[in-house]
Amino acid sequence: MTPSDLPPALVADRPAAADRAFVTLVTNAAYLPGALALLRSLRLTGTGADLAVMHRRLDAAQQDQLRALGARLIRAELLDTSEAFDVAHARDALHARAAFLRGAKPDFHTPLDNFVKLRLWQLDYARCVFIDADALVLRPVDRLFDFPEFCAAPNVYDGLDGFGRMNSGVFTARPDPATFAAMMAHLDRPGVFWRRTDQTFLQDFFPDWQGLSIHHNLLQYVWTHMPALWDWGQIRILHFQYEKPWEDHAKVPALRPLIDLWRHVAAGGTMPDLMALPAPPVPA
Ligand code: UDP
Ligand code: MN
Repeated sequence: MTPSDLPPALVADRPAAADRAFVTLVTNAAYLPGALALLRSLRLTGTGADLAVMHRRLDAAQQDQLRALGARLIRAELLDTSEAFDVAHARDALHARAAFLRGAKPDFHTPLDNFVKLRLWQLDYARCVFIDADALVLRPVDRLFDFPEFCAAPNVYDGLDGFGRMNSGVFTARPDPATFAAMMAHLDRPGVFWRRTDQTFLQDFFPDWQGLSIHHNLLQYVWTHMPALWDWGQIRILHFQYEKPWEDHAKVPALRPLIDLWRHVAAGGTMPDLMALPAPPVPA
Protein backbone atom coordinates (compact mmCIF):
# COMPACT_ATOMS: atom_id res chain seq x y z
CA MET A 1 0.00 0.00 0.00
CA THR A 2 1.16 3.58 -0.63
CA PRO A 3 0.11 6.88 0.93
CA SER A 4 -1.95 7.48 -2.23
CA ASP A 5 -4.32 4.73 -1.09
CA LEU A 6 -5.54 7.21 1.47
CA PRO A 7 -8.37 9.66 0.76
CA PRO A 8 -7.48 13.37 0.39
CA ALA A 9 -8.50 14.08 4.01
CA LEU A 10 -5.58 11.92 5.21
CA VAL A 11 -1.96 12.68 4.25
CA ALA A 12 0.72 10.23 5.41
CA ASP A 13 4.44 10.98 5.66
CA ARG A 14 5.38 7.50 4.44
CA PRO A 15 3.80 4.24 3.28
CA ALA A 16 2.47 1.75 5.80
CA ALA A 17 5.15 -0.74 6.86
CA ALA A 18 2.75 -3.42 8.12
CA ASP A 19 -0.90 -4.35 7.63
CA ARG A 20 -1.61 -3.89 11.32
CA ALA A 21 -1.32 -0.70 13.29
CA PHE A 22 -1.77 0.74 16.70
CA VAL A 23 -3.41 4.09 16.03
CA THR A 24 -3.75 7.17 18.18
CA LEU A 25 -4.98 10.72 17.66
CA VAL A 26 -3.40 14.09 18.47
CA THR A 27 -5.43 17.08 17.25
CA ASN A 28 -3.50 19.71 19.20
CA ALA A 29 -0.13 19.97 20.89
CA ALA A 30 -1.67 19.60 24.34
CA TYR A 31 -2.04 15.85 23.68
CA LEU A 32 1.54 15.48 22.37
CA PRO A 33 3.07 14.45 25.74
CA GLY A 34 0.46 11.71 25.97
CA ALA A 35 1.13 10.35 22.49
CA LEU A 36 4.91 10.35 23.07
CA ALA A 37 4.53 8.32 26.26
CA LEU A 38 2.06 5.96 24.58
CA LEU A 39 4.51 5.37 21.71
CA ARG A 40 7.33 4.69 24.15
CA SER A 41 5.17 2.20 26.02
CA LEU A 42 4.18 0.43 22.80
CA ARG A 43 7.83 0.18 21.73
CA LEU A 44 8.68 -1.38 25.10
CA THR A 45 6.27 -4.22 24.25
CA GLY A 46 8.36 -5.10 21.17
CA THR A 47 5.39 -5.00 18.79
CA GLY A 48 5.97 -5.39 15.04
CA ALA A 49 2.82 -3.47 14.13
CA ASP A 50 2.94 0.04 12.69
CA LEU A 51 2.54 2.89 15.16
CA ALA A 52 0.30 5.42 13.42
CA VAL A 53 -0.56 8.89 14.69
CA MET A 54 -3.43 10.81 13.11
CA HIS A 55 -2.67 14.45 13.82
CA ARG A 56 -3.71 18.07 13.36
CA ARG A 57 -2.21 21.40 14.40
CA LEU A 58 1.31 20.07 15.15
CA ASP A 59 4.32 22.01 13.91
CA ALA A 60 7.31 20.36 12.22
CA ALA A 61 9.32 20.02 15.43
CA GLN A 62 6.40 18.41 17.24
CA GLN A 63 5.89 16.00 14.36
CA ASP A 64 9.60 15.13 14.47
CA GLN A 65 9.31 14.11 18.11
CA LEU A 66 6.67 11.53 17.17
CA ARG A 67 8.67 10.37 14.14
CA ALA A 68 11.76 9.88 16.30
CA LEU A 69 9.81 7.23 18.21
CA GLY A 70 9.01 5.37 14.99
CA ALA A 71 5.53 6.75 14.34
CA ARG A 72 3.98 7.03 10.90
CA LEU A 73 2.32 10.44 10.83
CA ILE A 74 -0.99 10.93 9.09
CA ARG A 75 -2.40 14.44 8.94
CA ALA A 76 -6.17 14.27 9.27
CA GLU A 77 -8.87 16.80 8.40
CA LEU A 78 -11.90 17.34 10.58
CA LEU A 79 -14.92 15.34 9.46
CA ASP A 80 -17.05 16.90 6.79
CA THR A 81 -20.01 17.45 9.12
CA SER A 82 -22.88 19.92 8.78
CA GLU A 83 -22.88 23.34 10.40
CA ALA A 84 -25.74 22.29 12.70
CA PHE A 85 -23.69 19.29 13.84
CA ASP A 86 -20.63 21.46 14.49
CA VAL A 87 -22.66 24.01 16.47
CA ALA A 88 -24.28 21.31 18.64
CA HIS A 89 -20.89 19.69 19.38
CA ALA A 90 -18.80 22.84 19.95
CA ARG A 91 -17.03 22.72 23.32
CA ASP A 92 -19.13 25.26 25.23
CA ALA A 93 -22.41 24.04 23.78
CA LEU A 94 -21.65 20.43 24.62
CA HIS A 95 -20.45 21.19 28.14
CA ALA A 96 -23.60 23.26 28.81
CA ARG A 97 -25.95 20.58 27.51
CA ALA A 98 -24.15 17.53 28.92
CA ALA A 99 -21.93 18.65 31.80
CA PHE A 100 -19.08 16.43 33.03
CA LEU A 101 -20.06 15.82 36.66
CA ARG A 102 -17.85 12.84 37.53
CA GLY A 103 -14.46 14.32 36.66
CA ALA A 104 -12.80 17.35 35.09
CA LYS A 105 -11.95 17.74 31.40
CA PRO A 106 -8.77 19.68 30.59
CA ASP A 107 -9.27 23.03 28.89
CA PHE A 108 -7.58 21.70 25.77
CA HIS A 109 -10.20 19.00 25.28
CA THR A 110 -12.11 19.85 22.09
CA PRO A 111 -15.21 17.67 21.57
CA LEU A 112 -15.45 18.21 17.81
CA ASP A 113 -11.87 16.98 17.40
CA ASN A 114 -12.77 13.64 18.99
CA PHE A 115 -14.80 12.66 15.95
CA VAL A 116 -11.60 12.64 13.84
CA LYS A 117 -11.06 9.24 15.48
CA LEU A 118 -13.58 7.87 13.00
CA ARG A 119 -11.13 8.48 10.15
CA LEU A 120 -9.38 5.34 11.39
CA TRP A 121 -11.84 3.48 9.15
CA GLN A 122 -10.29 5.28 6.15
CA LEU A 123 -6.74 4.11 6.88
CA ASP A 124 -4.74 1.75 4.66
CA TYR A 125 -4.41 -1.04 7.23
CA ALA A 126 -6.22 -4.36 7.41
CA ARG A 127 -6.52 -4.28 11.19
CA CYS A 128 -6.19 -1.52 13.77
CA VAL A 129 -6.18 -1.17 17.51
CA PHE A 130 -7.02 2.39 18.51
CA ILE A 131 -5.58 3.70 21.79
CA ASP A 132 -6.24 7.16 23.25
CA ALA A 133 -3.19 9.42 23.55
CA ASP A 134 -3.71 9.53 27.33
CA ALA A 135 -3.18 5.78 27.77
CA LEU A 136 -0.11 3.70 28.56
CA VAL A 137 0.42 0.10 27.38
CA LEU A 138 1.91 -1.92 30.23
CA ARG A 139 2.11 -5.37 28.61
CA PRO A 140 2.07 -6.68 25.00
CA VAL A 141 -1.37 -6.39 23.40
CA ASP A 142 -0.71 -7.63 19.84
CA ARG A 143 -3.21 -10.42 20.28
CA LEU A 144 -5.93 -7.76 20.04
CA PHE A 145 -5.32 -7.73 16.26
CA ASP A 146 -6.90 -11.18 16.17
CA PHE A 147 -10.04 -9.89 17.83
CA PRO A 148 -12.99 -9.06 15.55
CA GLU A 149 -14.32 -5.60 14.82
CA PHE A 150 -15.62 -4.07 17.04
CA CYS A 151 -14.36 -4.77 20.56
CA ALA A 152 -14.14 -2.24 23.38
CA ALA A 153 -14.12 -2.30 27.19
CA PRO A 154 -16.79 -0.97 29.57
CA ASN A 155 -16.57 2.53 31.03
CA VAL A 156 -16.04 1.37 34.61
CA TYR A 157 -14.60 3.89 37.04
CA ASP A 158 -17.00 4.89 39.79
CA GLY A 159 -19.79 2.36 39.88
CA LEU A 160 -21.26 -0.81 38.46
CA ASP A 161 -23.41 1.18 36.02
CA GLY A 162 -20.21 1.65 34.02
CA PHE A 163 -20.39 -1.96 32.84
CA GLY A 164 -23.34 -0.97 30.66
CA ARG A 165 -21.49 1.85 28.92
CA MET A 166 -18.59 1.67 26.49
CA ASN A 167 -15.30 3.56 26.74
CA SER A 168 -13.82 4.52 23.38
CA GLY A 169 -10.21 4.83 24.60
CA VAL A 170 -9.25 1.36 23.30
CA PHE A 171 -10.97 -0.59 20.53
CA THR A 172 -10.35 -3.01 17.68
CA ALA A 173 -11.35 -2.09 14.12
CA ARG A 174 -11.01 -3.13 10.48
CA PRO A 175 -10.72 -0.07 8.25
CA ASP A 176 -13.17 -0.14 5.36
CA PRO A 177 -14.45 2.78 3.25
CA ALA A 178 -17.94 1.22 3.25
CA THR A 179 -18.00 1.19 7.06
CA PHE A 180 -16.77 4.78 7.11
CA ALA A 181 -19.54 5.85 4.71
CA ALA A 182 -22.16 4.07 6.84
CA MET A 183 -20.80 5.82 9.92
CA MET A 184 -21.01 9.25 8.33
CA ALA A 185 -24.63 8.61 7.33
CA HIS A 186 -25.50 7.60 10.91
CA LEU A 187 -23.42 10.32 12.59
CA ASP A 188 -24.75 13.54 11.11
CA ARG A 189 -28.54 13.55 10.96
CA PRO A 190 -30.92 16.42 11.76
CA GLY A 191 -31.24 17.07 15.49
CA VAL A 192 -28.72 14.43 16.49
CA PHE A 193 -26.56 15.03 19.61
CA TRP A 194 -23.78 12.69 20.74
CA ARG A 195 -23.26 13.80 24.37
CA ARG A 196 -19.92 11.98 24.77
CA THR A 197 -18.92 12.49 21.12
CA ASP A 198 -17.23 9.53 19.40
CA GLN A 199 -17.82 7.37 22.48
CA THR A 200 -21.60 7.70 22.45
CA PHE A 201 -21.60 7.36 18.69
CA LEU A 202 -19.48 4.19 18.58
CA GLN A 203 -21.57 2.52 21.28
CA ASP A 204 -24.68 3.25 19.23
CA PHE A 205 -23.12 2.18 15.91
CA PHE A 206 -21.62 -1.04 17.33
CA PRO A 207 -24.21 -2.23 19.88
CA ASP A 208 -22.31 -5.54 20.19
CA TRP A 209 -19.16 -3.75 21.47
CA GLN A 210 -18.47 -5.79 24.62
CA GLY A 211 -15.32 -7.72 23.57
CA LEU A 212 -12.61 -6.41 25.93
CA SER A 213 -12.20 -6.75 29.68
CA ILE A 214 -11.59 -3.76 31.93
CA HIS A 215 -7.90 -4.72 31.99
CA HIS A 216 -7.45 -3.69 28.36
CA ASN A 217 -8.63 -0.18 29.20
CA LEU A 218 -8.31 0.29 32.94
CA LEU A 219 -9.41 3.80 33.91
CA GLN A 220 -7.37 5.72 36.46
CA TYR A 221 -10.35 6.50 38.71
CA VAL A 222 -10.67 2.75 39.47
CA TRP A 223 -7.61 3.29 41.70
CA THR A 224 -9.51 5.65 44.01
CA HIS A 225 -13.16 4.72 43.44
CA MET A 226 -13.19 0.94 42.91
CA PRO A 227 -9.89 -0.36 44.36
CA ALA A 228 -11.26 -3.89 44.69
CA LEU A 229 -11.04 -4.14 40.87
CA TRP A 230 -7.34 -3.22 40.77
CA ASP A 231 -5.02 -6.09 39.83
CA TRP A 232 -1.47 -5.31 38.68
CA GLY A 233 -1.24 -8.90 37.47
CA GLN A 234 -4.02 -8.38 34.90
CA ILE A 235 -3.76 -4.85 33.64
CA ARG A 236 -2.65 -4.36 29.99
CA ILE A 237 -3.54 -0.76 29.23
CA LEU A 238 -3.88 2.03 31.79
CA HIS A 239 -6.02 4.96 30.66
CA PHE A 240 -5.81 8.40 32.27
CA GLN A 241 -9.36 9.49 31.53
CA TYR A 242 -10.34 13.04 32.63
CA GLU A 243 -7.30 14.78 34.23
CA LYS A 244 -4.06 14.11 32.35
CA PRO A 245 -0.83 12.82 33.97
CA TRP A 246 1.29 15.50 32.26
CA GLU A 247 -0.76 18.25 33.96
CA ASP A 248 -0.72 19.38 37.56
CA HIS A 249 -4.21 18.76 38.89
CA ALA A 250 -6.06 18.28 42.17
CA LYS A 251 -6.09 14.46 41.97
CA VAL A 252 -2.31 14.04 41.56
CA PRO A 253 -1.73 13.07 45.23
CA ALA A 254 -4.51 10.47 45.21
CA LEU A 255 -3.28 8.95 41.93
CA ARG A 256 0.44 9.26 42.73
CA PRO A 257 1.70 5.73 41.87
CA LEU A 258 -0.12 5.79 38.51
CA ILE A 259 1.20 9.22 37.61
CA ASP A 260 4.72 8.25 38.68
CA LEU A 261 4.49 5.20 36.40
CA TRP A 262 3.35 7.35 33.46
CA ARG A 263 6.10 9.94 34.09
CA HIS A 264 8.76 7.23 34.35
CA VAL A 265 7.83 5.80 30.92
CA ALA A 266 7.39 9.29 29.44
CA ALA A 267 10.94 10.13 30.55
CA GLY A 268 12.31 7.13 28.63
CA GLY A 269 12.39 4.59 31.45
CA THR A 270 11.84 0.85 31.03
CA MET A 271 8.67 -0.84 32.26
CA PRO A 272 9.08 -1.51 35.97
CA ASP A 273 8.08 -4.76 37.66
CA LEU A 274 4.34 -4.09 37.91
CA MET A 275 3.90 -6.70 40.62
CA ALA A 276 6.22 -4.67 42.85
CA LEU A 277 3.98 -1.59 42.66
CA PRO A 278 1.74 -0.74 45.61
CA ALA A 279 -1.90 -1.79 45.78
CA PRO A 280 -4.48 0.98 45.94
CA PRO A 281 -5.55 2.13 49.38
CA VAL A 282 -8.76 0.40 50.42
CA PRO A 283 -11.25 2.68 52.17
CA ALA A 284 -12.03 1.70 55.76
N1 UDP B 1 -8.18 14.10 21.41
C1 UDP B 1 -7.43 15.03 20.73
N2 UDP B 1 -7.76 16.37 20.84
C2 UDP B 1 -8.82 16.79 21.60
C3 UDP B 1 -9.58 15.84 22.29
C4 UDP B 1 -9.23 14.50 22.19
O1 UDP B 1 -6.47 14.70 20.04
O2 UDP B 1 -9.04 18.00 21.68
C5 UDP B 1 -7.86 12.66 21.25
C6 UDP B 1 -6.72 12.15 22.15
O3 UDP B 1 -6.16 10.99 21.56
C7 UDP B 1 -7.49 11.77 23.40
C8 UDP B 1 -8.75 11.18 22.82
O4 UDP B 1 -9.01 11.92 21.63
O5 UDP B 1 -6.77 10.87 24.22
C9 UDP B 1 -9.99 11.25 23.71
O6 UDP B 1 -10.01 12.42 24.51
P1 UDP B 1 -9.66 12.35 26.06
O7 UDP B 1 -8.64 11.28 26.24
O8 UDP B 1 -9.29 13.71 26.53
O9 UDP B 1 -11.03 11.91 26.71
P2 UDP B 1 -11.25 11.04 28.06
O10 UDP B 1 -10.46 9.78 27.92
O11 UDP B 1 -10.81 11.91 29.20
O12 UDP B 1 -12.73 10.78 28.06
MN1 MN C 1 -8.68 9.27 27.03
